[in-house]
Amino acid sequence: MSKTYVPNREADQVIIFAGPCSVESTEQFDIVAEGLSKMGLSWIRGGAFKPRTSPYSFQGLGIEGVKIMEDAGKKHGLKTITEVVDTTHVVEVLEHVDGIQIGTRNMANFELLKVIGKATEDSHQPVLFKRGMAATIDEWLSAVEYITQYGNPNVMLCERGIRTFENVTRFTLDIAAVPVVHQRSMYPICVDVSHPAGQTALVGDLAKAAIAAGADALMIEVHPDPKTAKSDASQQLTLPQFEELLDELRQVASAIGKRIV
Ligand code: PEP
Ligand code: MN
Repeated sequence: MSKTYVPNREADQVIIFAGPCSVESTEQFDIVAEGLSKMGLSWIRGGAFKPRTSPYSFQGLGIEGVKIMEDAGKKHGLKTITEVVDTTHVVEVLEHVDGIQIGTRNMANFELLKVIGKATEDSHQPVLFKRGMAATIDEWLSAVEYITQYGNPNVMLCERGIRTFENVTRFTLDIAAVPVVHQRSMYPICVDVSHPAGQTALVGDLAKAAIAAGADALMIEVHPDPKTAKSDASQQLTLPQFEELLDELRQVASAIGKRIV
């Protein structure tokens, strides 16, 4: 696989990692991939190993889901990123996707972070490192070094909302994390706007705020038919909703001299 890099944060780009919460089938993923590719985006996300709150909820298609992502990515010219939750899956998953995601529940799973750091020390495959939902920014910035100590510089931090007393939203999006990460670290920062929103209606405004605050990337969940989604049904956007939002996001990005990729 050719090396793929997350752009340096000085770049005039905002990457959008859009795609369904879970990879559910070849058809479902292909529809999203085709749509994103036509919109001119370069990445697609999808969850194959799902870290669900309940063991009785859909756990994901596992490696089969990762292969569905690989095929759709190749077919539609998109780079792929998926979450890994277990040290034993890391090497195999990295053979099929471009980038790897570490979820909020694993920010402090230091053994997993070390395995991912070692597994990408030569390939320099991108690693998206989410903030723990109850972690301070300093804890997060310290944990990221478990990955980077082996030499992969292509790490992007991802703010995805933290737990506070507020429960109108699913999590409280800490927008200040964007400038603080720029001030205190050398890594680019992504903002996942879907998981803090918890509802489709809030996603667009959070996305605009994140770009305006200087985010280097956004993560947005998009599903062909959100109401039937096997996970996170209430917060995913349809392709037409996402396309409309993308137009607005392009305007916000252009106002600060950036373009969306
Ligand atoms: C996800 O992006 O699919 C996900 C599970 O996110 P988080 O780890 O932020 O909950
Ligand atoms: Mn989700």
